[in-house]
Amino acid sequence: MSKCPYSGANSTPTQLTSANGAPVANDNQSRTAGRRGPVTFDNHYLFEKLAHFNRERIPERVVHARGSAAYGTFTVTKSLSDYTIADFLQKEGTQTDVFLRFSTVGGGQDSSDYARDPRGFAVKFYTQQGNWDMVGNNTPVFFLRDGIKFPDFIHSQKKNPRTNLPDPQAVYEFWANNPQSLHQSTILMSDRGIPLSYRHVNGYSSHTLSFWNAAGERYWVKWHFKTNQGIKTLTSEEAAKMPAFGAQQDLVDSIDKGDFPSWTVNVQIMTEEEGKTYKINPFDLTKIWPHSDFPLIEVGQLELNRNVDNYFAETEQATFAPSNLVPGIGASPDRMLQARLLAYQDAQRYRVGTNYSQIPVNSPKCPVHNYQRDGAFAGINPALAGSGANFYPNNRAQVGEPAQVPDVAEPPMPLEQDAWLDIYDTQDDDNFSQAGDLYRIMSEDQKQQLVSNIADGLSQATDDVQQAMFAQYDQADVDYGQRVRKEVAKRIAANG
Ligand code: NDP
Repeated sequence: MSKCPYSGANSTPTQLTSANGAPVANDNQSRTAGRRGPVTFDNHYLFEKLAHFNRERIPERVVHARGSAAYGTFTVTKSLSDYTIADFLQKEGTQTDVFLRFSTVGGGQDSSDYARDPRGFAVKFYTQQGNWDMVGNNTPVFFLRDGIKFPDFIHSQKKNPRTNLPDPQAVYEFWANNPQSLHQSTILMSDRGIPLSYRHVNGYSSHTLSFWNAAGERYWVKWHFKTNQGIKTLTSEEAAKMPAFGAQQDLVDSIDKGDFPSWTVNVQIMTEEEGKTYKINPFDLTKIWPHSDFPLIEVGQLELNRNVDNYFAETEQATFAPSNLVPGIGASPDRMLQARLLAYQDAQRYRVGTNYSQIPVNSPKCPVHNYQRDGAFAGINPALAGSGANFYPNNRAQVGEPAQVPDVAEPPMPLEQDAWLDIYDTQDDDNFSQAGDLYRIMSEDQKQQLVSNIADGLSQATDDVQQAMFAQYDQADVDYGQRVRKEVAKRIAANG
């Protein structure tokens, strides 16, 4: 029997084949009726090529569409066994493979790497007890504390539905109506708003997550990945001169030449008891935990050391989801996090398909055994497509059918006592103090850059929006408000 041409390394020489594996005699010319005549209906190989080409794209992410990623290693430098049963955090020196995808948020795949925009910082840890995805950003907070606002927020920051152009009025109109965004918009408009490259950003879980240990004690946790390359940024003017793919190029080039970027990994830890009485709601995504109250504890090093081989198969098909948790790492009552626990899985099913977890970049390195079956492309993982039981419970544990593991049960999640199900208005929670704290630690030069970046957009908004924003800056810090007013007035005068 002749050898199948798609038999990997042993097939020499490699034969060009159609998708069904049949050798192709001619890939350069279609079959035609005569030298100058039309192609005929028996050109099935031509049709196959064109049809596959038509389907080369999957829906791009609605947010975080433009990204770059690489593989690497996370090494534990301080055991977290007092806090968590997570197997990859038990011993100093333990190494875990990771895949880290950076992204901008608002632009499509063909936008620029140099937008003034948060940067996504999503890390997949391929642990021995499943994949843990830390789906964070380069900012320790976010614009919102409730996921119900997310679609409106993103609509307001993307392009105008009629002109398909950036729309500063909508950007600031949303913020004017949502003071909870002030802390994050102050970070975005600061000198740190446009990173020089992906190697020069910090990463944060932003959300409060949780740990639980062998005694069933839960702790609240925030993760901080501090770049060892140092924070480096661009002004808006510098960014405008950068090539659109500069950050992608920087990442690929530095890894290719062995200059591996790395991050020092830290956690902040709060006990459940502290969480109950802490002056700030520890689950409010618009707030940080001050370092003076909850110091950073260094726990590891993360290094990126391998580029992807195929951008589409790996970076584009990577499916991060905050719901990818492992024993010892849990969620928290953070409302934005709950919205994301649902929304990310849903986005990946729509974008990549039901069996997205079986694609190599997403596939856990440990065995996967469950009773989920079928769906598009079932069978990539043979363990989920065999002749064994497809239901549970069953009586077949002795013959190797998967059984549940009570030892890894998460302890109960504490809620407020007498928690009444209702709609609670958090609009007037303190939206200003931490934006003010950030303003007050800025140097004179940073303050000037901040107000100038704000004035770029705010000066193009309507008067009602400007007045509402001035009032917000005033509440953060009187000097902040005065300077923004002055700078906006200057821009309006200059633009006639
Ligand atoms: P600290 O003085 O202990 O920490 C200040 C932090 O702010 C440092 O992590 C510093 O990062 C970071 N920072 C400095 N300039 C900027 C900027 N333009 N944009 C974003 N971050 C910046 O103070 P606190 O912990 O009391 O926090 C004060 C304010 O600092 C907060 O309101 C928040 O806005 C900001 N911040 C706080 C973080 C936290 O987790 N506590 C994390 C990041 C920001 P670096 O060390 O890299 O220079």
